[in-house]
Amino acid sequence: MVEKYDVVVIGAGPGGYVAAIKAAKLGKSVAIIENRRSGGTCLNRGCIPTKAMLHAAETYRGALEGEKFGIKAENVTFDYSEICEYREKTIDQLVAGVDGLLKGNGVVAYNGTGRLMAGKTVEIESVDGTEVISGENIIIATGSVPSIPPIKGAELEGVVTSDGLFAAQEMPASLVIIGGGVIGTEFAEALSALGCKITIIEALARPLANMDKDISQNLKMILKKRGVDVHVSAMVNKIEKTEDGLRCVFTEKNKEMAVEAEMILCAAGRRANTEGLLGETIELKMDRGRIVVNERLETSIAGVYAIGDVIPGIQLAHVAEAEGIFVAEEIAGETPSVNLDIVPSCVYTSPEIGCVGMTEAEAKDANIDVNVGKFLMGANGKSLIAAEERGFIKVVAEASTGKVLGAQMMCGRATDMIGEFVTAIANEMTVEDMLKGMRAHPTYNEGIGEALEDMVGGAIHAMPKRKKH
Ligand code: FAD
Ligand code: NAD
Repeated sequence: MVEKYDVVVIGAGPGGYVAAIKAAKLGKSVAIIENRRSGGTCLNRGCIPTKAMLHAAETYRGALEGEKFGIKAENVTFDYSEICEYREKTIDQLVAGVDGLLKGNGVVAYNGTGRLMAGKTVEIESVDGTEVISGENIIIATGSVPSIPPIKGAELEGVVTSDGLFAAQEMPASLVIIGGGVIGTEFAEALSALGCKITIIEALARPLANMDKDISQNLKMILKKRGVDVHVSAMVNKIEKTEDGLRCVFTEKNKEMAVEAEMILCAAGRRANTEGLLGETIELKMDRGRIVVNERLETSIAGVYAIGDVIPGIQLAHVAEAEGIFVAEEIAGETPSVNLDIVPSCVYTSPEIGCVGMTEAEAKDANIDVNVGKFLMGANGKSLIAAEERGFIKVVAEASTGKVLGAQMMCGRATDMIGEFVTAIANEMTVEDMLKGMRAHPTYNEGIGEALEDMVGGAIHAMPKRKKH
């Protein structure tokens, strides 16, 4: 007999497991199919392991640089394998937590590879054989895998993706990173702090090129100060094997150059994971390898939904989660509780980066007249106490209404503080609305108040701007 559920979810990453739990909480019978470990890329090979590496690296750097606070630590060292052990232990804890939550909410978990078949049935292939289950609704949440650019020599040993770098037992002494996006800059931050010689080769004109110009320019400067070589507008031509490692040949400003390293990391984006997902007779509308969905996140087959990295759009764990909640509510006939259009983007460098909504340049391109408030965090008490690198908070608001349209920040706790602007934009708040609540002292959060005040009479802790005559 074919087991029947209200909802069958394929993939237990942040999109799939959140959708499954939410659907169960809304009273649905739910099954989830996963062929690796629960938690997906995010917990096992993405967000969590990188942030654990960054935390360890920052702790090490903090110990080395403690002298400015009167802390003298001698012979500070680290053991890379122990850092990896701590990272894996953190992952194990979180994966066990997800498994516990699925079980606690009555979600039936199948271990195997799910294949979508006709009539909203799913064939599950596992070590125990093949079984078929069916769902009134199916949610595809199969995520993404690293994509390797078509570069000659990319198949050589020592050329890895983020998955391969996590698997390495030892830290390379030198690393070339192809791609100065989010993965590239976070690995550069973590491994350079641990003493690895890093070179970034980025095709576009700036690292983190889709972010506010001030952010990527500042980041480039900070990385350079930390000994990271950053090459921009640079195209990789080939990778060659040398006696000691690898050579990456690239062209920058019409000049061919080469850099040698023990390992090369390809951090040039990720592609949707649809391998083995569709049965022979199943056709889903696709766009450049990703599953196309409508505004209800339904695919070209009625009752089959898709969420997360496998569909077009920005590939982020919190987006996958929000889409999971959205679809579960949609299936249960509830009004969606999340606004999927307002997406925070964070990079966990030091200082941290947090962005949401429009930049000043985007508002200009869209012909929207805006006011921009800016506060330099050098005058923020908390930043000064922590002796942090140059940082700032920028707010973009519609000139005619004062409605907040966007914020970009690069400073301590930016990845937490950006949430204040997500809530403000989602609730169409104005600069005045945001200024009604006081902010605790001393906090980085005070910088938000100052950036907002910059638009309505001037920040308290900034010198008055000269009046134009
Ligand atoms: P995934 O997490 O990829 O999960 C999909 C799951 O489905 C996997 O477990 C896979 O094994 C399973 N699966 C696939 N096919 C099948 C099948 N046919 N049958 C059964 N199971 C299947 N995002 C952030 O928001 N913040 C970060 O800090 C961040 N850092 C990152 C760092 C790195 C190095 C990387 C690589 C990514 C990072 N991301 C980050 C992105 C984030 O990991 C993804 O956006 C997120 O995991 C996508 O969730 P998902 O549920 O769509 O897919
Ligand atoms: P990305 O799209 O952020 O960056 C890829 C970069 O590689 C781009 O800047 C691109 O111009 C460059 N590039 C592509 N081909 C190149 C080539 N041949 N030579 C030189 N440069 C080249 O992708 P990513 O960094 O691989 O990250 C993948 C996904 O994971 C992203 O969607 C990201 O959102 C997510 N992620 C998020 C976080 C976070 O939220 N903190 C952290 C890591 C990853």
